[in-house]
Amino acid sequence: MSAPTFTTQSAEGTLFIVAAPSGAGKSTLVNALLGREPGISLSISHTTRPPRPGEQYGRHYYFVERADFQREVAEGIFLEHAEVHGNFYGTSRTTVQELLGQGRDVLLEIDWQGAALVRKAKPDVVSVFILPPSRAELERRLRGRGSDSDEVIERRLRNSRGEIAHAHEFDYIIVNDRFEDALDGLQAIVRAVRQGSALQCQRHEGLLRELLTES
Ligand code: 5GP
Repeated sequence: MSAPTFTTQSAEGTLFIVAAPSGAGKSTLVNALLGREPGISLSISHTTRPPRPGEQYGRHYYFVERADFQREVAEGIFLEHAEVHGNFYGTSRTTVQELLGQGRDVLLEIDWQGAALVRKAKPDVVSVFILPPSRAELERRLRGRGSDSDEVIERRLRNSRGEIAHAHEFDYIIVNDRFEDALDGLQAIVRAVRQGSALQCQRHEGLLRELLTES
């Protein structure tokens, strides 16, 4: 007798949001997660912010002029968009939808305002907020980055309270004190979500049917 076979259904991927005040280590954590965990893609945002040294068009952001950004807003290409620290940022609706449709999980690195908009559009989004271990450490990390002017750093520090005040709206909170622990926490969230029963029942519909069939 041949081994039992079962079909695996292709379920849509899960949308994740990771937010944090500037300097909490969010991008480093997210990049490390993407290096460790297959099946998850980062959505590259559009922004009017000028590139930092080393940042590349299409890899870190799609850097656009304000007029072009406004036109894209009017065309409705963004799933969400917001003004953060005096610049505009937006997430492309089609990119996200295409990746999710291919069954890939998609991660958005966006601010709390964008997160609130995405929650309205896609209530099943899973959101994570990263906190620094202290205010002093947040400031040290922001200054240590060495790529922003003092004025930009001061502005981001001032704005951090406004961002952190929304931490409770997120599904999960991670304190990024020891990097490896924070990364383990983030990966654990992604893995737990992937084992959720609603998703698993959809993915393994054939298996469940086979296991429940009376012989
Ligand atoms: P940065 O300029 O340091 O790369 O990002 C500044 C802030 O903008 C961060 O909080 C980042 O998460 C947020 N951000 C980046 N891309 C987007 C986006 O597409 N939408 C929204 N709402 N925020 C974004």
